[in-house]
Amino acid sequence: MSRGHPFVVALTGGIAAGKSTVEQRFAALGVHVYDADQAARQVIEPGTDGLLQIVEAFGEDILDRDGRLDRPAMRQRIFVDRDARRTLEAIVHPRVRLWLHERALADSGPYCLLSIPLLAEHIGHYRWVDRVLLVDADDDVRMRRLIARDGIDEALARRILASQASREQRLALAHDVIDNNGDPAALDARVAALHARYLALASAT
Ligand code: ADP
Repeated sequence: MSRGHPFVVALTGGIAAGKSTVEQRFAALGVHVYDADQAARQVIEPGTDGLLQIVEAFGEDILDRDGRLDRPAMRQRIFVDRDARRTLEAIVHPRVRLWLHERALADSGPYCLLSIPLLAEHIGHYRWVDRVLLVDADDDVRMRRLIARDGIDEALARRILASQASREQRLALAHDVIDNNGDPAALDARVAALHARYLALASAT
């Protein structure tokens, strides 16, 4: 490959739009998928500089007995304190971006998929991706799926949806869109077509 790294497709979509479902289909075709949520856990594992920074900012009390981040305690803390949220994100987000970038650069290709749920919120930091694929579903469909998947109540589901970028913001940055309002069986043909397109784009760059 002329440019020395694979073509990079960023997969995004609002919560419960079906990103994981689509990821699995690309993975089944042999595409390497790297997930920002997985990165967010790895960059603050015990022994990482990320966890060290968190302890410096929040104190040892934010760790559980095994020396891991006490996630429920952290969630509670950032829920009531915006500055704490900003501090945590300032530690975690750059490390997640670096983790994803390193994986993409080292990938054997021909293209790889980076799953980045909050891409629209942070697009300025992801100008290096080649292509954006949006998994799209209507808000009421996502609400229903979110409530069913996570067993949360409607008020919380509504709040989570409202805290994310709007569909319009996501659509504005997408090169390709998968409409996932319908039957999941319809995804196979759509994913196969996109896979062919990405292989062609990757070989042309
Ligand atoms: P995300 O990763 O975007 O948060 P998921 O892939 O977890 O979303 O999908 C949210 C929920 O909706 C999951 O329980 C999933 O099994 C279900 N789901 C995804 N796509 C469909 C579909 N087309 N029809 C019905 N349920 C779906």
